[in-house]
Amino acid sequence: MQIFLARTQGFCAGVARAITTVDQALLKFGTPLYVFHEIVHNTAVVDDFRRRGVIFVDDLNNVPDGSRLIFSAHGVSPAIIETARRKHLKTIDATCPLVTKVHHEAAAFSSQDVDVILIGHKGHEEVVGTSGYVKPGLLHIVQNAADIENMSIPAHKKVAFITQTTLSIDAARELILKLRARFPRLTGPLKDDICYATQNRQDAVKELAALSEVIIICGSPKSSNSNRLREKGEHLGRPSYIVDNASELDLGILNGKTKVGISSGASVPRHLVDAIIAKIQAAFSPVDIITFDDPEQKIIFPNPEI
Ligand code: SF4
Repeated sequence: MQIFLARTQGFCAGVARAITTVDQALLKFGTPLYVFHEIVHNTAVVDDFRRRGVIFVDDLNNVPDGSRLIFSAHGVSPAIIETARRKHLKTIDATCPLVTKVHHEAAAFSSQDVDVILIGHKGHEEVVGTSGYVKPGLLHIVQNAADIENMSIPAHKKVAFITQTTLSIDAARELILKLRARFPRLTGPLKDDICYATQNRQDAVKELAALSEVIIICGSPKSSNSNRLREKGEHLGRPSYIVDNASELDLGILNGKTKVGISSGASVPRHLVDAIIAKIQAAFSPVDIITFDDPEQKIIFPNPEI
């Protein structure tokens, strides 16, 4: 059997920065340490921090006044920042800088009273945070083509779009084309807001699909970018499966196969992928591992001040 490991996978610079931020805060301040939402969408990462005393909350009412609180990589709305200020929380912002860039775009369009169409998954923490930078009457969240058809913005109005950073590139482009057809005065970022890490990981799965008969994506159920990787493999005609860790991998999917592609989402620690490889090696020996050069090795985001 041959295992092809995606050229670009695992931690992106935003996730590495967020995890380092919690690590350093634990080291410097100890517990109790609160994090608003899961710091990144990975079960193993969050469970490890929980074991070390970090408390994850989805509601600031559950954080005692004056405590230390970290905002997750997905970012938060101005209302959350204001609530934290009122509660005298000592905050550290681990929002990915590429999400912050989208916040700035949202706020700028909103301040010009432009209707803002946010392409993204309703209820996803990043979308909830970004939504808060747009005046309520101007915000329209679009998840699919039907949402565009059902929108009631008059065609003559000035409209701008922004996007979640971890969307399917192909699906987002289709939606942007539909928006351009519907709103001739549509404005927005030059391309979209999908980040380099999402783009690179989807490109790498495309490469895997050309080499493999089956694709395994390591990622947690809530991870948007991991789910998009599985969809990409499936869309390219390869049976594709998402597993949170090695114990979830059903080796039966590999029976009769000799070429397996493996990738992982942007919030997945490498040891989880190594455990999947080890499980396959134990069952299908001999196994050759084929790797490729990773173009992302030098991308680092500076850590926030702690
Ligand atoms: S996936 Fe993109 S936007 Fe999200 S944390 Fe990573 S670099 Fe930032």
